[in-house]
Amino acid sequence: MRPILDSIVIPKHAFTATLAVQQGLATVDNICKRGMVIVNRCTPCYRAAENTPHLFFVCPFSNGIMQEVLVWQGVTRRVLSLKHELYKLALCRGKLWKKKLACCALAATIHHIWQERNARIFNDVRHTPAQILARIKYEVCVRFYAWNRGVDTDQLLSLLIG
Ligand SMILES: [Zn+2]
Repeated sequence: MRPILDSIVIPKHAFTATLAVQQGLATVDNICKRGMVIVNRCTPCYRAAENTPHLFFVCPFSNGIMQEVLVWQGVTRRVLSLKHELYKLALCRGKLWKKKLACCALAATIHHIWQERNARIFNDVRHTPAQILARIKYEVCVRFYAWNRGVDTDQLLSLLIG
């Protein structure tokens, strides 16, 4: 869990991601475990039961966003489970800014997928994966820039556009 508590991670993103790691988000399966009887269907895809692993990593909707976030960072592998993504971040070697970017991006992605799920349930509002991805990139870049004022402006712009 340590990578998502990195100081560069936006606090509200860290909060949502921490709850996801601890299985503490009010997903339908967690609500059912508390005794409420409701139909357990994943909000974005309606194909499977909603639980943390499915909602953030297995669901085609979320998996596509996660995959695009990895591609944006220059990572060519497939999306792993939350546990394995955190493990990869903890073992990440190389440039500090790349690790910081990865931590920030993972937490932001979890946060925005959760926000989208809630917007669809409670506000009947839907965003496309491209809109969510653009919001993730924007927030991560702004945070990243605030963290490291020494970052090359061209590098920042290429991150935003890429
Ligand atoms: Zn789904």
